[in-house]
Amino acid sequence: MSPIRQPHVAIIGSGFAGIAVAAQLKRAGHTSFTIFERAPGVGGVWRDNTYPGAACDVPSHLYSYSFQPEPTWRRRFAEQPEILRYLRRCVEQNRLTRHLRLNTSIESAAYDEKARKWRLRTGSGDVVEADVLVPAVGQLSEPVVPNLPGLDEFDGPAFHSARWDHQLDLRDKRVAVIGTGASAVQFVPAIADRVREMTVFQRSAPHIVPRPDRAYQSWHRFAFRHIPGAQAVGRFGVWLFFEAAGRGLTTAQGIGRLFTVVAGGHRRRQVPAEPLRADLAPDHQIGCKRVLFSSEYYPAFSRGGVRLERGAIERVTSNGVRTADGVEHPADVIIFGTGFDASNFLSTLDITGAGGARLDEVWKRGARAYLGMAVPGFPNMFVMYGPNTNLGSGSVVHVLESQARYVVRLVRRLARRPGAALDVLPDAAERFDHEMQRRLRDSVWTSCRSWYRDADGRVSTNWPGSMTEYRRRTRCPDLNDFQVLTASTT
Ligand code: NAP
Repeated sequence: MSPIRQPHVAIIGSGFAGIAVAAQLKRAGHTSFTIFERAPGVGGVWRDNTYPGAACDVPSHLYSYSFQPEPTWRRRFAEQPEILRYLRRCVEQNRLTRHLRLNTSIESAAYDEKARKWRLRTGSGDVVEADVLVPAVGQLSEPVVPNLPGLDEFDGPAFHSARWDHQLDLRDKRVAVIGTGASAVQFVPAIADRVREMTVFQRSAPHIVPRPDRAYQSWHRFAFRHIPGAQAVGRFGVWLFFEAAGRGLTTAQGIGRLFTVVAGGHRRRQVPAEPLRADLAPDHQIGCKRVLFSSEYYPAFSRGGVRLERGAIERVTSNGVRTADGVEHPADVIIFGTGFDASNFLSTLDITGAGGARLDEVWKRGARAYLGMAVPGFPNMFVMYGPNTNLGSGSVVHVLESQARYVVRLVRRLARRPGAALDVLPDAAERFDHEMQRRLRDSVWTSCRSWYRDADGRVSTNWPGSMTEYRRRTRCPDLNDFQVLTASTT
C-alpha cells in the first residue's frame, strides 16, 4: 500500500474479530491503527470463558485464520487455553502488540461530519480521533443472568459460566446449574464428578450430536507442519461438512431431518433409561437453536448425584431453587449457563453518527446493517460480527476473515482519497436487509425462540447463506452502494 496519508483505524475489541482486522491491515502494509481493549489481555470470549471443559465445537483447522494456520493443535476440537494461546501468538507474530491499548474501554464514539472523523471517548475520559471505526465487540460478550425472584436472597455464591469462580472449591457442594446450552453441555460433564450433587435446570432440551474429538498424535502434527496441503485438506473437509449442514437449516431441510435422526440415535445410545431419555428429548425443530456437539453430556446424568429438573423455576430461596410445583431444590452454589445478550448489538457502546443519530435509536426496530457491517448515516464505521453475520453451521472465524478483508479493501480505497468517508446508501442497506429477512423467513430459525431472534422475533443475528456466499459477496466492495463524502460534500 502506498498511501498519501494512511487513515487511522480504531478497532474496539481484541477477540477473533479485532485481531483479524488488525492482522490483515498489518499484512497489507497499513500501520495506522489502534486496538482498544477494555480487559487486561487479548482474546475476547476465549479470554473470558474459562469454565471447566470450555472448548471449541468447531474443529480448530477451520476455527482459526486461514492466513495463520496452526500445525500444533493438540486436539481436533481445541480447548480454551489452547485457543487463547493461539490468539496471543497471532498478536505477537503479526506484530500487533504496539497497536494495543489494553485496560482501555471505549464508552462512546461520535462522528464529526465536518472533520469526517470519529471521536472516541475512553472510560478514563480521554478523547481519541480516528478516520475509521471498527467495533469488534462480538455478539456473545455480555453474559445474561436472568432476573429470578429471590436471587439476592441466595446464601451461597452464584456466577455466570463466562465469569467462572475458580477460587471456589466445588467438592462437597450441591450445585444448581441453570441452562442447557452450548456452555452448560461442556461444563456439566466437566464438573459432574467434582461436586457432591448437581441439579441441572432445563427449560428446553437441546439437540445433541456426537462430538468426534480426538487427540492429535505427534505424526499428525508432523504432517500438518511438513506435508504441504495436509492441514488445508483437513480444513477443507471440515468446511465441506459445515457448508452441507448449513443447507439443512435454510434451503435443504432434508439434511436437517438426517441430523434429527443422528441426534435421536445418540440420545438412545447414551441414555438407556426412561423417563430420563424422554426428558432429554427436544421439542423444537433441529437447528432452530444451536445444535450441540457432545459425547459427554448425556453420560453425566448416569453418575450418582446428577439430576435433571424440568420444572419451571419459580424463585431462588436462601437455600436453593424452588420450582413451580413448590419443591425446593437445595443448592450451595448456582451456576448460570444462561447465555449472552446477543441481539442487543454494540450495547456497551454509545455510538452517534451523522446529524446526531444514535445507533441504538436507529436499531430500535431491530439491528440491521449492509453486509452486516455498514449502517447509513454512520460513515466509515464497519461493524465486525454485526447483524446477520452469525452462522447456524460453520466457523464464524471464516466470516470474520471475510469481513476483515473487506474492511482492509475499503481502508485502501480511503487511503487513496485522504479525508474521504464512505457512507452506505440507504437503499442499498434496505435492499440487503429485505433480502436477509425474506430468506430468513423460510429458515428453521423462525420456528422457535432463541438468542438468534430479538425481542420482536426478528432473526437479527444469523446469516441465511453459506460461508462461501458471504466470502463471495464481501470479496470486492461495490462502491456504487456507498456515497463518498469529501470536504465538498459535507
Ligand atoms: P445459550 O445457548 O443461549 O443457552 C442458554 C441456556 O439457558 C438455554 O438452555 C436457555 O434455555 C437457558 N435459559 C436462559 N434463560 C433462562 C431462564 N430464565 N430460566 C431457565 N433457563 C434459562 O447460551 P450458552 O450455552 O452460553 O451459549 C451461547 C452461544 O455461545 C452458543 O450458542 C455458541 O454460539 C457460543 N458457544 C460456543 C461454544 C463453542 O464451543 N464454540 C461453547 C459455548 C458457547 P432456552 O433454550 O429455553 O432458552
